[in-house]
Amino acid sequence: MINQKYKDRLSNKNVIRRLAAFAHKRGQEIGYENVFDYSLGNPSVATPASYNEAVIDMYKTMDSMSLHGYSPSLGNTHVREVIADSLTRRFHLPYQAKHIFPTSGAAGAIAHAVRAVTAPGDTVLTFAPFFPEYTPYVNDTGAVLKVVPPDIPDFQINFTELERMFDENVSAVLINSPNNPSGAIYTEETLTRLSDFLNRKQKEYGHDIFLISDEPYREIVFDGRKCPYPSAFYDNTLSCYSFSKSMSLPGERIGYIAVNPKATDADILVDIFGQISRGIGHNCPASTSQLGIASVIDQTADLSVYETNMNLLYDALTDIGFEVVRPQGTFYIFPKSLEEDAVAFSDKALEYDLILVPADNFGAPGYFRMAYCIDTDKVKRSIPVLRKFAHEVYGK
Ligand code: PLP
Repeated sequence: MINQKYKDRLSNKNVIRRLAAFAHKRGQEIGYENVFDYSLGNPSVATPASYNEAVIDMYKTMDSMSLHGYSPSLGNTHVREVIADSLTRRFHLPYQAKHIFPTSGAAGAIAHAVRAVTAPGDTVLTFAPFFPEYTPYVNDTGAVLKVVPPDIPDFQINFTELERMFDENVSAVLINSPNNPSGAIYTEETLTRLSDFLNRKQKEYGHDIFLISDEPYREIVFDGRKCPYPSAFYDNTLSCYSFSKSMSLPGERIGYIAVNPKATDADILVDIFGQISRGIGHNCPASTSQLGIASVIDQTADLSVYETNMNLLYDALTDIGFEVVRPQGTFYIFPKSLEEDAVAFSDKALEYDLILVPADNFGAPGYFRMAYCIDTDKVKRSIPVLRKFAHEVYGK
């Protein structure tokens, strides 16, 4: 019998995918260059040549079984060592290979992290605005995702609401900094306060509370900033990383979980992830992806275009009269809609071939997201269209 839960979801399609499908259809009608598609978070810059060269070299020089054979179920040991060394160098925590678990991107990392530290029925708290895929990522494990309302206007953490919503059923808190969709980075002050809060709650309830830190945008930061590393603030942290955005490698499905060496059961958590893989049919990422990434570990793609695009859009949006917080990282910007109903706003924007994503599913109704991982030329060409739309429809 077909599982009704999944069947029901077919009629409830992800709004981002729906808008992207509209953009595609419109592109066929009027030429894709005339559609201002800000819907999808697909990296737009080239993967570094060094990655491609390393992979080509591997194909030419490595023996067939080392390249194409099964990866050990917990990942290639050399690759895990390279990742651990890199993290130790950068964030000064004593990671070893035993703390690193290669995964299929951040999605695979979160799937394992949630299962490892929650039981069905437990609560996982996250903070609005949040990446809508967290809903299936968490709820499909049997745990229940609950969303703490946003801290407006800065999109840090709303500690009053966190305190109010917290109870003994919470076994994990899921954060994302730099944040999709707001572009906010959690400050050291926010992370210190969160750590103090979680340590207090662990004592109060007498059980571990894990912080699952989703970090695919860790390197996409603006104005010369560095993103504070959450695991440095709280011992029970599982850092979920992905090379999808920093290296423009989303199709390679490569990321990892890094277990804080001071976490409870830090020495066996990766073995536990291995057991979870068996049940969910996840296998380690392809050996070629693991080896490829290890050979370029501290590099990134040229991410500067995202900052250029952010500046163009931020200046234009504020000039037009949108309320918007300047993003500190990622490739998203998150303005307030020009009417309360952001879905209606987004529908009206479609008339101008502007594809803007309403943020109701991100836990922040009344806002919309623009993913500016597109050509700078297109960003520039979209600005007069945004002006026209805001003026003709909203008198701005
Ligand atoms: N978490 C956030 C906040 C994301 O934006 C994304 C992808 O867009 C993911 C997780 C999933 O990343 P990956 O493609 O590496 O699985």
